[in-house]
Amino acid sequence: MVQEQINILIKLQKIDTELYKLKGEKAGKPAEKESLKEKFDQLSQALKDREAEVKSVQLKRKEYEIDLESKEKEIKKYQTQLLKIKTNKEYLSLQKEIAGLKADNAVLEDSILELMEKVDKIKSEIAGQKERLSTEEKKVKQETEKIDREIKGIEEKISTLEKEKAELCPDIEKGLLAQYERILKVKGELALVAVIGESCGGCHRVLPPQVINEARMKDKIIICDFCSRLLYWPQ
Ligand SMILES: [Zn+2]
Repeated sequence: MVQEQINILIKLQKIDTELYKLKGEKAGKPAEKESLKEKFDQLSQALKDREAEVKSVQLKRKEYEIDLESKEKEIKKYQTQLLKIKTNKEYLSLQKEIAGLKADNAVLEDSILELMEKVDKIKSEIAGQKERLSTEEKKVKQETEKIDREIKGIEEKISTLEKEKAELCPDIEKGLLAQYERILKVKGELALVAVIGESCGGCHRVLPPQVINEARMKDKIIICDFCSRLLYWPQ
């Protein structure tokens, strides 16, 4: 009986629709995990960048300190020379040299202070970032575990549905089942649709009266000429 076959196919399609939905959900899960990881990696990279910045500021400070030290040595050297100087002109020139070095050092000292303040500021920001990162790490772990549990749940549902499907399949005529599977593969979902009014329930195009009559007769399997789906007359 065609109607019996169609009734089983309707049941089968309900299962296939559910399977299609579940497989789609499952396929989206790895991207969910990936986006969690990406967000964590971004925070982690931001922290690394900040740590590198501290290092480079500290290097700059070290450079200034070495410069300051060598200029102070020079000042001392000139001050010793000052004691042995004979002419006024030489004395003034050396004094000028010392004053210049002292002015340089004042600028260096200010810069060193500024850099020290900058390091302190970045270090306190780093402390905050570390805290956020550790919170985020816990969150990512929890969310990932949740997604893994969801995947497992989906897989269990899929396996149950596949068993139900396997039980239904032997009751459908082989040729019809193959035809149904072929259409399903092409359309993704819905291989079997009802006639709705005068139209195909799949592609919604108006069917020729003869096709509608044939579907109403329920004595053979009818196919929509437009979308190639199997048609049935609704109960
Ligand atoms: Zn159609």
